[in-house]
Amino acid sequence: MTIEAINKKLNAIIYFNKGVSATQSGTPIAIKDNICVKDEPTTCASKILKGFKPPYDATVIKKLKEAGFALLGKSNMDEFAFGSSCETSCYGPTRNPWDPERIPGGSSGGSASSVAAGIVPMALGSDTGGSIRQPASLCGIVGMKPTYGRVSRYGLIAFASSLDQIGPLTRSVSDSAMLLNVISGYDEMDSTSLDLPVPDFTQSLVNDVRKMKIGIPKEYFPEGGIDKEVKKAITKSKDILIALGAEPVEISLPHTEYAVSCYYIIAPAEASSNLARFDGDQYGLRKDAKNMVDMHMGTRTAGFGSEVKRRILLGTYSLSSGYYEAYYLKAMKVRTKIKDDFLNAFKLCDVILTPTTPTPAFKIGEKIDDPLKMYLSDIFTIPANLAGIPGISIPCGFTQAGLPIGLQFLAKPFDEEALIRVAYTFEQNTDFHKRKPKI
Ligand code: GLN
Repeated sequence: MTIEAINKKLNAIIYFNKGVSATQSGTPIAIKDNICVKDEPTTCASKILKGFKPPYDATVIKKLKEAGFALLGKSNMDEFAFGSSCETSCYGPTRNPWDPERIPGGSSGGSASSVAAGIVPMALGSDTGGSIRQPASLCGIVGMKPTYGRVSRYGLIAFASSLDQIGPLTRSVSDSAMLLNVISGYDEMDSTSLDLPVPDFTQSLVNDVRKMKIGIPKEYFPEGGIDKEVKKAITKSKDILIALGAEPVEISLPHTEYAVSCYYIIAPAEASSNLARFDGDQYGLRKDAKNMVDMHMGTRTAGFGSEVKRRILLGTYSLSSGYYEAYYLKAMKVRTKIKDDFLNAFKLCDVILTPTTPTPAFKIGEKIDDPLKMYLSDIFTIPANLAGIPGISIPCGFTQAGLPIGLQFLAKPFDEEALIRVAYTFEQNTDFHKRKPKI
């Protein structure tokens, strides 16, 4: 089957860069549609940005071009990266290659689906509350969210600037390490990127976890709050690592239960402010009207989908006078507690092991009318964004119905090396990453 035929079934790539195969011969890569590529459509899968072609490359794109990658095209996503299912795109939903009736996860669903289906060997995504790790988990591939500040966000269309981070989606841990090498590093165009030396991450591709301390947080295995098959696969994965010489350590992250509420105050607050710029004045869609206010209102009403409007309303409400202290300020305090939980835990262990998602991929349409249910699918990925720490999801099993299950590791800030080492060791001693979906 051709790439185009596979893509027709999945709707993973929304724009193919026509020039790519004729002029370039580097490794093909798909780019999430919220990362600016000069003179190519970049729309965040939103009607409001239809027709927008950025006049510049994001820093990660500049680095990929310099390294000789062939940018195959833009991958589908939830509109403005708000979502966990890739169903809110203005281009229609992306499908999961393991079962086309199911969602691929989100918001980087097009990136994950295209890598899992073999359309591309690797892709870039962005992760604000789990949007790289959750779709990687549901599509049976490797997804890494680097430490906040490791990779430049310049040219990533902002969702929540204190949480957003770009990262790789790949089929193997070694590809993840290699791609991280290419995109990492300080950038004067992003004041939140940290000026730290970037190690060669491929040096951490070491098949050895002896003496490595693996923290098991009791809060990530809630009674009844996690699918039985997922729990079984994660427990088995832990046993595999222990058999390979890792030392399990029981830890506690007591503020975990507040993470989702905290995130859904902070992320929409930042989003409502970031999305104020889409009003018809400068980019994409414009609904002309007699005066400026009507033009802005008409453009935003027509251009944004309902989840985007919901986030803007939520965010504007929690930032408004009289509510700011009760919601936003309180959420910021909880965020510090969540971060402290992790820093305390990392005094006892090198990495933390958790499920990536509470369930395998759900059906298209199953949660789209119930935002709360949808928001809860990120319960295990959100805390890492709030704390700014790195995380990786790797394949660790399949359900009886043949759906992939993901295992998440978290590490202390700027210790992606520990993630790569433990993930690589697990991968080298298991076969889950070798299975391919039949399309
Ligand atoms: N699903 C989460 C949300 O909708 C996370 C999205 C993301 O990481 N971009 O906010």
